[in-house]
Amino acid sequence: MYLCVMANYFSSNFTLGILGGGQLGKMMLYETRKFDITTHVLDPSLEAPCRIACNAFTQGDLMDYDTVYTFGKKVDILTFEIEGVNIEALEALEKEGKKVYPSAKTLRNIQDKGVQKKFYTTHKIPTAPFSVFETIAKVKKAVASGELKLPFVWKSCKGGYDGKGVQVIKNSHILDLLPDCPCIAEELVAFKNELAVIVVRNPSAQVKTYPVVEMEFHPQANQVEYVICPARIDDKVAAKARSIAIEVSKAFEHVGLLAVEMFQTNDDQIIVNEVAPRPHNSGHYSIEASYTNQFEQHIRAILDLPLGNTASKLGGIMVNLVGEQNHTGDVAYQNIEEIMAMDGVTPHIYGKKQTRPFRKMGHVTIVNENIDTAREIAQKVKQRIKVISK
Ligand code: ADP
Repeated sequence: MYLCVMANYFSSNFTLGILGGGQLGKMMLYETRKFDITTHVLDPSLEAPCRIACNAFTQGDLMDYDTVYTFGKKVDILTFEIEGVNIEALEALEKEGKKVYPSAKTLRNIQDKGVQKKFYTTHKIPTAPFSVFETIAKVKKAVASGELKLPFVWKSCKGGYDGKGVQVIKNSHILDLLPDCPCIAEELVAFKNELAVIVVRNPSAQVKTYPVVEMEFHPQANQVEYVICPARIDDKVAAKARSIAIEVSKAFEHVGLLAVEMFQTNDDQIIVNEVAPRPHNSGHYSIEASYTNQFEQHIRAILDLPLGNTASKLGGIMVNLVGEQNHTGDVAYQNIEEIMAMDGVTPHIYGKKQTRPFRKMGHVTIVNENIDTAREIAQKVKQRIKVISK
């Protein structure tokens, strides 16, 4: 079916535009380089990790209508590696016939957490019960009247990522510390696992899912320490998670990657937490462990090329490299040689020159035929490598 389509992307004048020049874009560019596909990246920072690998770079504000619109006019297909982009500009470009993947409509349903949660309710996708509030004063009023019961999870509708903009509210005094913005109050879910499934879909509606991954948390710090593929869960639960992820994908009609984050509740229900319409942290393991990694898969999908094999060749574990507390300034990766001497260990350094506490500076992948062995090596990696300032 694909043989009759002249895909004129390779070593041609075709240009793929990418909004956002962070590490996700940088890893996408390894793949466009592999295929010799020309790229143009827009990012506000001249130090963006993408700068070293794209063919053309424009510095500019991703939320500014004119900047995004003018950039979009110059490229043949537009994609993004960050959700915080000007949607009105994407809509205008689409109206003029520009291909934008994922579409502005998909992004509209995702960018605002309140809209995203309502979308799940409309499409009968299992998710935690929630209410949307326009101001923090309205949240306080609902708590005072007993309409909203403690504890609950507060989430700002816009701008939150990596747990910023999310807070468990156990007593009403904490409400005074929250920013005054539109938000949701969500039921606190009792879960035994956080899982994720990446779904890939092309405009011809070919769909595939990656295996279920599991986020293992630090028991005290409540921080994700390891992303493990495959998740160490029952096959039935894994099958349910993949089938719900496909349902979510169908509902959004997205093109490209969709990372679906889910909770496995104590009674083995799967409920959807949130989605990201782009390559995702939970798929970084795929660079070393999968037949086709998530970044290549995203490129294949948005160009309507045949999708690659999503299966794993090996067990894979990802450890985030984040800046140590009390370290700010020029970055150094302490003991990196030591971890590179371990079996199946590959560090990825995103290229941010300055570290600060908890800043995502890179990640390390550990692959092994045996996932338990990989997990043991991952722990050693985690204990040894430190992101510090010089
Ligand atoms: P972000 O967009 O910042 O990643 P999430 O919605 O994924 O925000 O929330 C961050 C973390 O907070 C989750 O990974 C999970 O550990 C916890 N969390 C989020 N929602 C709930 C909930 N309803 N119940 C319990 N924990 C939650």
